[in-house]
Amino acid sequence: MFGSSPAGPGEFELIDQYFRQSGVTGAESEQGRILLGIGDDCAVVEVAAGRQLLMSIDTLVEGTHFLAGTEPDVLGWRSLAVNISDLAAMGADPWCFTLALTLPRTDPLWLQEFAGGLFRLATRFGMHLIGGDTTRGPLSLTLQVQGTVTGAPLTRSGAKPGDLVLVSGTLGDAAAALRFLDLPREAYSSSQQFLRRRYEYPEPRVAIGQKLRGLATAAIDVSDGLLADLGHICQRSGVGAWIDPARLPLSRAIQAELPPDDALHCALEGGDDYELCFTLPPDKLRHVQSWLEERLVTVVGEITPEPGLWLRDEAGQLQATSGRGYRHFE
Ligand code: ADP
Ligand code: MG
Repeated sequence: MFGSSPAGPGEFELIDQYFRQSGVTGAESEQGRILLGIGDDCAVVEVAAGRQLLMSIDTLVEGTHFLAGTEPDVLGWRSLAVNISDLAAMGADPWCFTLALTLPRTDPLWLQEFAGGLFRLATRFGMHLIGGDTTRGPLSLTLQVQGTVTGAPLTRSGAKPGDLVLVSGTLGDAAAALRFLDLPREAYSSSQQFLRRRYEYPEPRVAIGQKLRGLATAAIDVSDGLLADLGHICQRSGVGAWIDPARLPLSRAIQAELPPDDALHCALEGGDDYELCFTLPPDKLRHVQSWLEERLVTVVGEITPEPGLWLRDEAGQLQATSGRGYRHFE
């Protein structure tokens, strides 16, 4: 990722031009088979018949992904959470991780708190830290996670016209929190506190991803914003989608803190929520009935045969949009 804002066009072109090699996905040797290379939330290699190892790596850089002075406990949690979220998006069972730390200095209190946040989340998912690298330089945190799947993992590429588009949790909270980063914490209202915690301590949706295996046709985690990430599903699946903004799940806190248009803008385009966006054939909806009732997941739109992204208004009219197209709606 280039920053926590929607990925610029440069990132994916750069990867395609310099790093994507043909014949990687599907490559087979006596070591195993590469089932999925560049292009999804994790890479997938088959290590034994029907047994897949999933891997994903993410870097957080001070000044780009977080402000100087961010609490180390938050960094420990968050740097692992964003990686586990990629495992969740593919329905994997988290297993172990490696940690590459670049530190400007050795500060025992900082390290203790960083490790505190890191292992609190790791323990939650029974994950083990199995290696890494430590160097001196500007603060930067790189984590690489591994998880396993027996059978087929969820991918971005299986969405079909007529599938429903669903999201987990509520959207836009993390983006809304960025509006209050400068305020002193003591001055926060309780809804500002809630939004700030959503930004600092994302909850990877591992259980949801696991249950969606064999049900959802495609899935992704919302790291760059709903429109951008749904756009990735559409692109990889060769389809389009519409979203009904009125159905987007918004927390009470975001509704209390932001005007409706602004909250909607955060929900459509704000990154960092680490919820899941997935597609489900309508006849599979009953399998997630209890989640729908608890508002743990929400139907927000539908997959279309024509490529593109649309916003659907109350009258059923579709308006073309893009990863940054919500302004059409303002
Ligand atoms: P995510 O937001 O899920 O972490 P990214 O947008 O960072 O995914 O990456 C998109 C895809 O490109 C992923 O499959 C990732 O593994 C791959 N990728 C990103 N950077 C590189 C790189 N430098 N070399 C090879 N593959 C890369
Ligand atoms: Mg991802």
